[in-house]
Amino acid sequence: MNGWSNNGLWLAFAAGAALTAGTVSLGRLFTRRHSLKSSPGPSYQLELLNSLYSNSPIAFAVIDRQGRFIDINRDPSDMVGYTKEEMTGKPFATMLDRESHEITRQMFHRTLNGEKCSQEIKIVHKLGHSMDLNIHTSPLVRRNKPIGILVFIEDISDRKRSLERIRYMAYYDDMTGLPNRRFFTNRLEEKLKAAKGNGASIAVCYLDVDHFKLVNASFGRDFGDMLLLQIAERLSRSLTEPGDLARMEGDEFAACFDLLQLDEGVNARLDEMMSVLEEPFELNGVPVYITVSIGVAVSDNDADADTLLKRADTALHRVKENGKNDYMLHVGDMDHIALHKLTIQHEMRTALQNQQFILHYQPQYDLASGQIVGMEALIRWNHPEKGLIPPGEFIPAAEESGIIVPLGDWVIEEACRQNKAWQDAGMPKIPVSVNLSMRQFSQRNLTDKVSDILQQSGLNAKYLELEITESMTMDVERATQCLKELTDLGVTISIDDFGTGYSSFHYLKNLPIARLKIDRSFVRDIQQDPNDAAIVAAIIAMAHNLQLQVIAEGVETVNQVHFLRSHRCDEMQGYFGSPPLSSEGVLELLQEKLNRPALSAFH
Ligand code: C2E
Ligand code: MG
Ligand code: MG
Repeated sequence: MNGWSNNGLWLAFAAGAALTAGTVSLGRLFTRRHSLKSSPGPSYQLELLNSLYSNSPIAFAVIDRQGRFIDINRDPSDMVGYTKEEMTGKPFATMLDRESHEITRQMFHRTLNGEKCSQEIKIVHKLGHSMDLNIHTSPLVRRNKPIGILVFIEDISDRKRSLERIRYMAYYDDMTGLPNRRFFTNRLEEKLKAAKGNGASIAVCYLDVDHFKLVNASFGRDFGDMLLLQIAERLSRSLTEPGDLARMEGDEFAACFDLLQLDEGVNARLDEMMSVLEEPFELNGVPVYITVSIGVAVSDNDADADTLLKRADTALHRVKENGKNDYMLHVGDMDHIALHKLTIQHEMRTALQNQQFILHYQPQYDLASGQIVGMEALIRWNHPEKGLIPPGEFIPAAEESGIIVPLGDWVIEEACRQNKAWQDAGMPKIPVSVNLSMRQFSQRNLTDKVSDILQQSGLNAKYLELEITESMTMDVERATQCLKELTDLGVTISIDDFGTGYSSFHYLKNLPIARLKIDRSFVRDIQQDPNDAAIVAAIIAMAHNLQLQVIAEGVETVNQVHFLRSHRCDEMQGYFGSPPLSSEGVLELLQEKLNRPALSAFH
């Protein structure tokens, strides 16, 4: 028998008297009829009881058979806001929140039948907020008849709140308030179980904000956080059930939904997700446009939540590799592709040692004179079994694994060595351009490396140009410092694939850039697409205003040449002039240039 049931017996007796007396409350009953006596005996026990009743740290109330509030051992106003007077005679249930009514009614009923019950309920504070109580009930019996209920009350609001806080921290993302990976995986597991039961499928999406790192790097983390918050808000609105969206980490979100009809359902939902993010975001009054990449996996019979998430992630990587801003469904063999990538990464290491990489060079022409004014070094992998592999098939894997760094070093070395060799052989001196990858550009010792290579090869720095992309300039501080160091060596810098990344006039104006290379996607359609024609014309005009040279990439037709000339573009590179050539091919061309300086087709 525990303590309170023992007391309950005594109280039952005393309260019984109170209830029979009608209006007299239990507390007052004790104090009026019994004063403290010195010796043990029934009156001593009542005094003890009286003291216990008034001073107990535990609150207990007496309820009559009709569920009305009769008495409580302390001032209830600091717990529920009502005074004892306000509560007396009121049905206990009227103070509870709706859901607790029925539970408490049944509990009282059972208690009057002799049972002791415990239950968590919610009571509504006089000010309107609800509070969590843990109540234990015990029958008040007099002469073997239940005459009321004794309710022991524990305020567990604080405990509940801290439990909820712990739960929140474990299952929710603090910044966006969205469920986190743990919550999402559990929920997905539940959904998968339910779907198995009713034959439905679940689509799992893994979403990543394109170029988010650059947003953070260039505008600051607070800006990035604001953007993520707004993205979270828009995505939650586009998904019907609140638990279906989670922030996995950083700029990665995951979503899941039931699919009734397979293909149609997925595409419509994904189109919607992408379109809610298309509208510009307003951050500190600045409109910001973003794109996202989404990988999707659809449940089959045996895939668990982790497997589906992995598949969606694999699909997401494919989207990223294919140029971002899109979504893609995981196909069964994508795991093999990931495996293939690992094989490539492994093979590349030995390929570098075994000298399987070679450089081709694509000539660049002055548009006015038709003279060769430069050439771009383009890497190829001369694979013993697969033949010549273009860079698009291995550069992303090299970048991901970090092999790009030694590989990129080799490209600069080889391009400088070869250019110097041509010059030493008496060929016309023309600069060579080398593409830099993001990882190479991020190396702290890049300038030292370039300087060493120039020294070892003996090539004058003015014959080396490095091509970077717009995205590399987003970390303005780093880019400014690095480019200044490089140009101090005498190397020139150009911006490759111009127009496809985050363009900012700020960097164009402030960084030591010599020329822009208009991306071939704009050049391709200048004849057919007035927008592309306008973009190309605008890039040329803007570059000239900033005293930058402009070269058009991917020029294939004479009409493109005419267009570019009429807009005073300085140079061009593309199949129209020449495809990329082997080093032997370049030597022939240079020898030809010695004899016949200009490309005849230009005139
Ligand atoms: P990129 O720097 O924009 O190089 C130009 C690409 O356009 C080359 O493809 C070239 O063959 C192709 N191209 C040239 N003229 C035409 C044309 O008239 N029409 C069309 N449709 N395409 C033309 P390639 O050699 O496959 O290189 C692709 C990309 O790989 C390069 O784009 C560059 O981003 C990267 N890359 C190449 N070599 C290296 C390297 O050594 N290091 C790094 N990091 N990246 C490299
Ligand atoms: Mg390039
Ligand atoms: Mg390019």
